[in-house]
Amino acid sequence: MILSDGRRGSDTLESILLFLSKSKFLERIITNSSIAKKAASLFVSGERIEDAINAARRANEIGITATIDHLGESVENDILARKFTDVYIAVLDQIAESGVDSNISVKLTQLGLGIDFDLCHQNFQRIVERARQLNNFVRIDMEDSPYTQKTLDIFKAIRKDYSNVGIVLQAYLYRTEKDILEVIENGHGLRICKGAYTEPKEIAFQKKDQVDKNFIHLLEMLLSEKARKNGVYVGIATHDDKIIEWTKDFAKRNGIGKNEFEFQMLFGIRKDLQVELVKEGYRMRAYIPFGTYWYPYYVRRLAERPANILTFARTILGG
Ligand SMILES: Cc1cc2nc3c(=O)[nH]c(=O)nc-3n(C[C@H](O)[C@H](O)[C@H](O)COP(=O)(O)OP(=O)(O)OC[C@H]3O[C@@H](n4cnc5c(N)ncnc54)[C@H](O)[C@@H]3O)c2cc1C
Repeated sequence: MILSDGRRGSDTLESILLFLSKSKFLERIITNSSIAKKAASLFVSGERIEDAINAARRANEIGITATIDHLGESVENDILARKFTDVYIAVLDQIAESGVDSNISVKLTQLGLGIDFDLCHQNFQRIVERARQLNNFVRIDMEDSPYTQKTLDIFKAIRKDYSNVGIVLQAYLYRTEKDILEVIENGHGLRICKGAYTEPKEIAFQKKDQVDKNFIHLLEMLLSEKARKNGVYVGIATHDDKIIEWTKDFAKRNGIGKNEFEFQMLFGIRKDLQVELVKEGYRMRAYIPFGTYWYPYYVRRLAERPANILTFARTILGG
């Protein structure tokens, strides 16, 4: 999302890729190509639930916990939204059966948020209820800004009756500071990330250094004594060395234990750093996506790092 020279420009390759990530036409062509599938396997554990469970097991073996994500977003009808809900319930069941240490991450537009609020609420509640029966936890991923408020509304409505649910906030949005004050007041669990979508300057920081600065400002709030006393547990979702080093240093200076927060990274990205942090005694969780609807997720990963496009091209050309 953020370019290495500090721009988050709308006239860049990144913006073009983020635009293409929404193209149903390209999605059809690319997801049917076995070579593209091979390239995507760098960031996607596979197409079946078992693939994600196996990836979670491999992560657990080296001390990394997991969160499993069934790929798919913006479903267009209620039948599909219910079908995806059933897939998540099956994932929870298979996590329990296999004994892997993993929770799940859910995108609400996959459960019908773009169709009808009540439909989505109902579907999401089914998932959270099943997770509670199995003593598991559900994280709601944060999507692009048309869904920010609705996502928070569903979270708050469900959180009244269930404690096994958490939210994600994005450091690139101006509103996040205010949302975090509420998170701290209520002692909610939170994942904080930079944000993966193109957002206009009216609502979001556009430059990498601004986003990074805000990320650190928000982390100071989330790791404050008040937040921790209120029960806030933060998942710090980034591969950014500078933010990770800042966190380690801040925690050391303020006597914050290594078990009072966790780092989170995406499957297939900076595995070396994931292992290193575990060796240093930090908690690490890998975000493990699976499923057949991998196209938009994969293209967002290409947009984040131009070098990934070269890898993609090499795989395609190499057959
Ligand atoms: C566990 C997890 C959950 C997330 N959940 C959400 C969510 O719910 N909503 C949302 O909007 N976003 C989410 N994101 C994505 C996030 O917002 C960023 O888009 C993404 O993490 C890249 O930002 P960064 O913090 O790694 O920093 P960047 O400044 O983008 O990258 C820092 C460094 O990390 C490495 N890196 C980053 N991305 C890649 C990549 N694709 N391939 C290879 N190396 C890379 C590079 O070395 C780069 O220099 C999530 C990210 C993680 C890790």
